[in-house]
Amino acid sequence: MNTIGHYPFDKAGVVELLQRHGIMPTQQRIDIAYFLFQRPQHLSAEEILAGVNDRRERVSKATVYNTLGLFVSTGLLREVLIEPERVFYDSNMQPHHHIYNLDTGELSDVQAVNVQVQRLPALPEGTEVDSLEVVIRVRNAR
Ligand SMILES: [Zn+2]
Repeated sequence: MNTIGHYPFDKAGVVELLQRHGIMPTQQRIDIAYFLFQRPQHLSAEEILAGVNDRRERVSKATVYNTLGLFVSTGLLREVLIEPERVFYDSNMQPHHHIYNLDTGELSDVQAVNVQVQRLPALPEGTEVDSLEVVIRVRNAR
């Protein structure tokens, strides 16, 4: 778990965050991480692309997608897969679960302490639990 810095991260905090994850802090990576780590938030790749290039185009779509992949693979950023075409990038670095509203498309955080898993199946031989994520899908009550 990451304990450095607090939201919103300033540029120096973002550089440190990247370095702690073994990521070379290029200007574009800093720009993308700076946008993401303003607060714990759930964003699509399109929203991140638009947010990073707020006024003028500085970072290409390919670079944004590649950088998000790098951030996820190094554990800096969490990928929350709701459906194949509905992926959120989550800048909340604390262990937590989610509630996904099927009607509104909104994803919200649930503190890990508020979910208890009572039983797990036998794991394949030679494996151990790395992480457990719960997504509770809800609909608006009619
Ligand atoms: Zn989250």
